[in-house]
This record gives sequence, structure tokens and C-alpha cells, in this order.
Amino acid sequence: MSDLTKMTAVEIAGLVASGETSAVEVAQAHLDRIGAVDDRVHAFLHVDTEGALAAARAVDERRAAGEELGPLAGVPVAVKDVLTTKGVPTTVGSKILEGWRPPYDSTIVERLRDAGTVMLGKTNMDEFAMGSSTEYSAYGPTRNPWDTDRIPGGSGGGSAAALAAYEAPLSIGSDTGGSIRQPGAVTGTVGAKPTYGGTSRYGLVAFSSSLDTPGPCARTVLDAALLHQVIGGHDPRDSTSIPAPVPDVVAAARLGATGDLTGVKLGVVTEFTGEGAEPGVMAAFRDAAEALAKLGAEIVEVSCPHFKYALPAYYLIAPSECSSNLARFDGVRFGLRVGDDGNRSLEEVMSLTREAGFGPEVKRRIMLGTYALSSGYYDAYYGQAQKVRTLITRDFTSAFEQVDALISPTTPFVAFPIGSRTADPYQMYLADLFTIPTNLYGGPAISVPCGLSDGLPVGFQIMAPTMADDRMYRVAAALENAVGTLTPPAL
Ligand code: GLN
Repeated sequence: MSDLTKMTAVEIAGLVASGETSAVEVAQAHLDRIGAVDDRVHAFLHVDTEGALAAARAVDERRAAGEELGPLAGVPVAVKDVLTTKGVPTTVGSKILEGWRPPYDSTIVERLRDAGTVMLGKTNMDEFAMGSSTEYSAYGPTRNPWDTDRIPGGSGGGSAAALAAYEAPLSIGSDTGGSIRQPGAVTGTVGAKPTYGGTSRYGLVAFSSSLDTPGPCARTVLDAALLHQVIGGHDPRDSTSIPAPVPDVVAAARLGATGDLTGVKLGVVTEFTGEGAEPGVMAAFRDAAEALAKLGAEIVEVSCPHFKYALPAYYLIAPSECSSNLARFDGVRFGLRVGDDGNRSLEEVMSLTREAGFGPEVKRRIMLGTYALSSGYYDAYYGQAQKVRTLITRDFTSAFEQVDALISPTTPFVAFPIGSRTADPYQMYLADLFTIPTNLYGGPAISVPCGLSDGLPVGFQIMAPTMADDRMYRVAAALENAVGTLTPPAL
């Protein structure tokens, strides 16, 4: 295969390390591809051509000097616009941060740079990571490379579409309720949500701090594992970061690729009956589960009775935290400022700025969260939701006493047409029916392609216990080996 943009990260890193290809050539090939297709996909909000070429040149110089390169050196990566990048615009898909150039790099971006990866730019997303379709970006939607009339998932639709459009072999997402896994599922790519606290939130613009988890996106399970290894691990600058090494996800992906799952016990969640899910999605999921059984996995049913309350609990907890986190966008400290004509009070300027700077979905969440936290309702809403969160965590704990991992479809439906779910917020929220329980629990979960329904990709979700991220990579790699990766139609 001579087209550098069609290669895996592992292949690219190998070519760069051996000197067969330079990192600059690799970066240029991807920048050219972005130039050729991104007007149709709109995966990127900002392409950092100069920064990418400079980073690539640095890798080539290190190689020429005989320095040892890391496993992803010279590999391009696209970063969701939710992570701060020093001197490079960071908008979080919102008008309120338009023009803001952060004075510092997030830990994830710092680690990507230290690993010699080459950041191509920042990817499109639903404003403040609230959404499931990238239609709530203030900068216009991203389109699904499988069918450009359809959504690429959200909130990290740009990061997933960049992979499926061969604009980048690796990307970074963030998952609060499914924003890595759901876009992965509907674009036929791999997306992993690490254990909460397994990847640093330092420099991740906060949506819901007790749930937000940055993580890797790739076209193969092994590439995702390599990226996970690079970005993961303890960070003293994040107080919720787990002080432990990253589970050996790379070794687990390699083990899984041998295709033997003997001794692995997987649980199908009884309550995920398929109600509300498309029959084609359920069929692809069942076929994939059978494929895993053929590899030696034992598959049983496990009841998680409180999972059905996950969606309502999430839509109290996440907006509550968001209403507090987004208070900082006041027109004084960052980005946009409206109405500051010398005659208005500070309060008026703040209010005008927020009115103009936030989109309707973000405002809906702020209002919902403010209400749920207000003194008369705190116990009835926020307090109740936290109790449900505990019950869901107990469901997971007891499930993992019975099985090694839980499995389900990633999403109830395949990529839907742009505009078809924006009128009713609830229809949009349903996209995360299967992904949200994991966020409330804090464990890791991965979405891996398992086939097509009506010609569109279906994702298979594997949920593992906290800090057993390696386990999900093993199963995911075995499945990928059995069913193969998906190739979208040419753009
Ligand atoms: N779709 C969910 C929401 O709108 C999840 C978003 C996310 O994971 N960032 O909140």
C-alpha cells in the first residue's frame, strides 16, 4: 500500500523509524488529504499546517541524530477542540471562545508532543461536548464519510470523521456520556473511553467534571491501544487522576489479536433488550457475540436492573456540573465580550455575552442544571440522581463478580440523517442509551466496528471494571480479528 493516509499508525511509525518515509512526507500527505476532502467532511475547525510540519521536521531530525523514537513518533494525530493547545485556537465548538488561544497545553497534548506525534489540528465537536451528532457545533456540522448526508456522531464527530475520511490515522476524543464511543460506532472506527481518572483532565475544557474522560480514537484496536498508552497515566495536575500506571493495553490488544478468548466470560446485559434499538443493529451485535463465542469466550446474561435509570440520572448530574463549570465564561476572562460600551454594568455585559456566545443546547443544559441544584429541588433532583449513580455502580460491581466484561451494541441506531433528531432533544439523548451507564460508574469501555446495517457501520461495546482497561482491548482486538475492519466508500 503506497498511500500513506490509508496506513495504520503502526505501519506509519515503522516506516518513519526505518527511514523509508520521513515524518514530513507523512504529515504532508495527510495535510493534502485534508485539503482535498475536508470541505465535504468538515472534520477540522483548525488545521495547524505550520505546527504539524515543524513537529514532523523535529522527528526527522531526531531520527537523523540517531535518537531512539517512541512507538508513535511521526504519526499524525487530530485533537478534539476541547483540549487546550498552546497558541493554537481552542473553541470547544462554541462562539464564546472564538479567537481564544490558550496560554498552555493540556497534559494530553503535551504527552502527544513528547511522544513525537504530529498534531494536524483541532477537530469539530458539539458545543462544549453536549450532543450526539456534532450538529450543535457553532461552526456548522461535520459529515459522516460513509454518507455525507448523515451525522458522524457526537460530541466528537470531527475526531471520528477525520479517521474515516483518512485525514488522520489517530485522534483524541473526550467521553462524558458516550462522545468517543458513539462517533466511533457510527463511523466504523474504534473509540475507547479509559477508566475515569486514567487519562488527565488538565487542560480539558470542563463539561461535567465527575464524568469527563479524554481518550483515544483510531481505525484499529492496536492503534487505539498505543495511543491510550501514550496519553494515559498519572498526572499530578489533575486531582482525580489515578496514581497508577496505565494497564498494559498494548500487550492486551496483541494478545487479543491472536484470536483466542478461552477462559474469558462475557455478560450480555439482560435489560438491554433491544427495545428502542434498530433490529439491524441488534442483529449485527448478536452475530458478533457469536463470533466471540467461536473464539472460546463464554457468553452469559447478566442483570443490571438500574441501567434503565442511567439516562435520566445523567441528564441531572451532567447539566448540574455543567451549570457550575460554565459559569467561568463571563465575557471577562476568555474569548467573546459583548456590549462593553462603557455604559453598561458588568452584570449586563456578562449576560449579553452569555446570551450571544452560548448556543441553545448549552443554554438548555445550564438552565436544567441550575434548576436541579436550586435549594428547594436539590434533594429531589441532584441528590436523587447521585443515589441512582450509586445503584448503577453496584450493578457493575456485582456484574463483574460474575463476568470479566459486559457487552452490548454501542448505540441503538446507525448514523441518522442530518437534521432528523434536532427538533426533539430526547431523540438526540437516546443515542447514548448504552454508553452512559459506564460513565456513571467510571469504568472503561470501547467501541469496535462489528458489521453493517443498511450499509452503515454498527459498533460493538465492551465494558470492563475500573482499571481493567486492558481486558476490553483484548476482547476488542479478538473481535476485530474475527470480523475485520470496515472500509467506507471512497469520498
Ligand atoms: N451525548 C451526550 C451529551 O450530550 C454525551 C456527550 C459527551 O460524552 N461529551 O451529553
